[in-house]
Amino acid sequence: MKAVRLFGQKDVRVVDNAEIPTPKGDEVLLKIGGAGVCHSDLHIIDDGLLPVSGFTLGHENAGWIEAMGPAVKGYKKGDAVLVYGPWGCGHCKPCQESKENYCDHQSETYFGGGLGFNGGMADYMLVPSSRLLVPIHDLDPVIAAPLTDAALTPYSAIKRSLHKLMPDEYVVVIGVGGLGHVALQLLRATTGAAIIACDVTADKLAFAKELGAGYTINSKDPDAAEQIQKITGIKKAKVVIDFVGINSTIALGTKVVSLDGDLTLVGLGGGRYDYTMMGLPFGVSISNPYWGSRTELMEVVGLALQKKIHIEIEKYPLTEANLVYDRLRQGKIKGRAVLVP
Ligand code: NAD
Ligand code: ZN
Ligand code: ZN
Repeated sequence: MKAVRLFGQKDVRVVDNAEIPTPKGDEVLLKIGGAGVCHSDLHIIDDGLLPVSGFTLGHENAGWIEAMGPAVKGYKKGDAVLVYGPWGCGHCKPCQESKENYCDHQSETYFGGGLGFNGGMADYMLVPSSRLLVPIHDLDPVIAAPLTDAALTPYSAIKRSLHKLMPDEYVVVIGVGGLGHVALQLLRATTGAAIIACDVTADKLAFAKELGAGYTINSKDPDAAEQIQKITGIKKAKVVIDFVGINSTIALGTKVVSLDGDLTLVGLGGGRYDYTMMGLPFGVSISNPYWGSRTELMEVVGLALQKKIHIEIEKYPLTEANLVYDRLRQGKIKGRAVLVP
């Protein structure tokens, strides 16, 4: 079968001769419908975020069950499912609570399929346990694949701040890409807060307006923080969610977050946070959430089934993986690119 493999830093190749695995025990073989192309792949490909290579990329996966090991119960061939991405040990307390993104053993293993283990940019993918599947009923796996990360990650980030996202408060979203464009819809669907969206190009800002942002700001403007404060007034933004995570966006978030607010750093852009006591309003919680839980992914599927969120996708064949990564590097993808075998 075809597979998009990482062979080393900046070395991604499409191979034709990857073996189709046979599922054993509780394993499941999926026929891939779509694999989303996440910016984290660029941190892995360009910056060597993972210490391994030789695996198939793609950690946002959906497809149809092709074959199952003898221990799998409750599924049948042809069922459409998402693959929950952060693969934990399955037995520690966070895993038992479905929070495999915070598995006690994360430091001992890789992060999941497409993140050290073979992922879904291929014709077929082996999932190590049926516990990692979430049914999507009549949703199309091609469109649904990014729910597993581009929607789950912002959903989980927003959920931890829900009690602060009241209708008389402001939330700032920095970066309206794969994750950010879903974050805007999730904020509309689950909170009443007024949304201020930041990006660096006019088309991304116009896109943010279409998705429900009340205000848009170009964060490259030298007075971006002052423009945001003009909107919020003295109270500032109760929640800032940064989907970029470079020095300048972290500095912007720090300037516009309110007293007792949340500064949530989702982007893995490698930025530094420089704490000084008077440089951060009192009471602010800074967090760096990672992905979300299995049950949160079920909730995200609920929102998609109710059509409260939709992923804007650009479809490409597996053979164009490198072209897609280039477009993502240049910030040219609208919403999420999905590779379709
Ligand atoms: P993306 O490339 O689709 O979107 C990034 C967006 O940020 C683009 O629209 C781009 O124009 C915009 N941008 C770039 N520089 C900016 C700036 N200075 N100010 C405002 N906007 C700017 O990326 P994505 O797939 O949405 O991922 C976003 C980040 O989140 C990446 O760093 C990724 O690695 C990370 N991520 C983290 C988690 C997690 O669990 N913590 C999960 C998935 C992705
Ligand atoms: Zn990702
Ligand atoms: Zn665990």
